[in-house]
Amino acid sequence: MSKPTIYGLTFDQLTDWLLDHGQKKFRAQQVWDWLYNKRITAFAEMNNINKDCIKLLEDHFVLHTLAEEIKQASKDGTVKFLFKLQDGNLIETVLMRQKYGLSVCVTTQVGCNIGCSFCASGLLTKSRDLTAGEIVEQIMNVQLYLDEAGQGERVSHIVVMGIGEPFDNFENLVDFLTVVNSQRGLAIGARHITVSTSGLAQKIYEFADLNLQVNLAVSLHAPNNELRTRIMKINRAFPLEKLMPAIDYYLEKTNRRITFEYILLKDVNDHKEEALQLAKLLENKRHLSYVNLIPYNPVDEHNQYQRSEKDNVSVFYDVLKKHGIQCGVRQEHGTDIDAACGQLRSKQIKREKRTSKKTESQVG
Ligand code: SAH
Ligand code: SF4
Repeated sequence: MSKPTIYGLTFDQLTDWLLDHGQKKFRAQQVWDWLYNKRITAFAEMNNINKDCIKLLEDHFVLHTLAEEIKQASKDGTVKFLFKLQDGNLIETVLMRQKYGLSVCVTTQVGCNIGCSFCASGLLTKSRDLTAGEIVEQIMNVQLYLDEAGQGERVSHIVVMGIGEPFDNFENLVDFLTVVNSQRGLAIGARHITVSTSGLAQKIYEFADLNLQVNLAVSLHAPNNELRTRIMKINRAFPLEKLMPAIDYYLEKTNRRITFEYILLKDVNDHKEEALQLAKLLENKRHLSYVNLIPYNPVDEHNQYQRSEKDNVSVFYDVLKKHGIQCGVRQEHGTDIDAACGQLRSKQIKREKRTSKKTESQVG
């Protein structure tokens, strides 16, 4: 079996591991510093660590398991990475330049089982969860890319909105958050991290109980069960009467604002009627709600959906505002480079399939 990446260990796990392997406790801080502050590319660079300890680490771990397959830079500064995992699976990571800093969108699973009807990631069912290390590595690879550019730029924000349902990979997600948030290392502030879920209600309770200061976004996309089930089949398992109480619990427990994501789909969920229903649904939590209206990013396989017209977007926005709901229309990044979640990956997989078919037919 191939060795795991050391980035998968939280500071406490690394400390325990070193102690279990006969090392002194203070080594953990030294190794952590090399990994996340000095950002080595080989264990041998740790020049204040004795050879035996370096060998021990090399025997059990590697630094990198992700291989960069494709890197696409957009005119607006967005950079999209396609990484190959050790088992050959492909995942996507996106770096976005925002006014407030540099934000990275990470993937948590290979594919997604939730299968929302508008999403490119759900086209391929989940083949496995990413390990915590594979999620941390995405951040490290982007940070190393920035280090190489030599401008001293740092990843300052993270959105867990790439391929996969983060709450369906809960433990690894939490370890990932612990690593990137650690003050001893990357120190990316919890308030600068947002996790997006399609609405796995029981995990929202668990997440609230963890009392992390991380932001939560819920992909709502419809204000009633009939419509929500039509576009997101997860609504059968967690209809609004299960989802909304979980959200209320989260708000009560954390007093942190929730973002509701709402993709505007032409003639599907973008009428004035739905805007009014949405305002009503959020009425009692207006002070802790923000609605992010998302322009639909067309996906070839889902051609039943189109982007809402500009006028409908404005009417929708105005209705929410008029009812005291805080909202905004999401700024788009890298539309010239397949930046919608899962698109680069699904195109590459199709490309690979075409090539292997050709090879097969050439052989046969
Ligand atoms: N699985 C999680 C997080 C990943 S998806 C979730 O669903 O919340 C991140 C966001 O991208 C979600 O709000 C999702 O609904 C949205 N999204 C998916 N496909 C999209 C598309 N084609 N256009 C615009 N947004 C999309
Ligand atoms: Fe999965 Fe999120 Fe895409 Fe739905 S929108 S299929 S939950 S990644």
